[in-house]
Amino acid sequence: MKVEENKVVVFHYTVNEGGEKVESSHDRGEPLAFLVGKGALIPGLEKALTGREAGATFSVDVAPSEAYGERRDDFTQRVPKKYFRDADHLKPGMLTVLSVSGGGQRQVTVQKVGSSVVDVDLNHPLAGKTLTFDVEIVDVRDASPEELAHGHAHGAAGHGHEH
Ligand code: ZN
Repeated sequence: MKVEENKVVVFHYTVNEGGEKVESSHDRGEPLAFLVGKGALIPGLEKALTGREAGATFSVDVAPSEAYGERRDDFTQRVPKKYFRDADHLKPGMLTVLSVSGGGQRQVTVQKVGSSVVDVDLNHPLAGKTLTFDVEIVDVRDASPEELAHGHAHGAAGHGHEH
């Protein structure tokens, strides 16, 4: 069975940037499962997976436009400290999480810490970077009707919500 839209692909990956490891599913001990064609994977990786079968291993370079986008120099914001749960420990260069209106959270990079406000860079930490993915496809399977209805993969290796 080949990776294509509405199949679930289960894979291990290691992502490197500039020769340094960024993260790896091997560190978590279990592969990721994704429902293909739902926009949950970065486009360049989904493209590279498509058409391959279980057991395939490959390496692919993904340009920023196919990964986390280009960096925007003006994508910064001054935010009151109360919006950070770890406000007392922030230092320039640190990654932290900012609660955003609507209830979501966003990973940001601290630029400058003032007495009551923090300047943050809202670019994704991997924006502007070409990423190299080393991938091993563990399994390709049909999505269940429930997975198709929800638009994501289930199971221990899927996105972790409970049913
Ligand atoms: Zn679900």
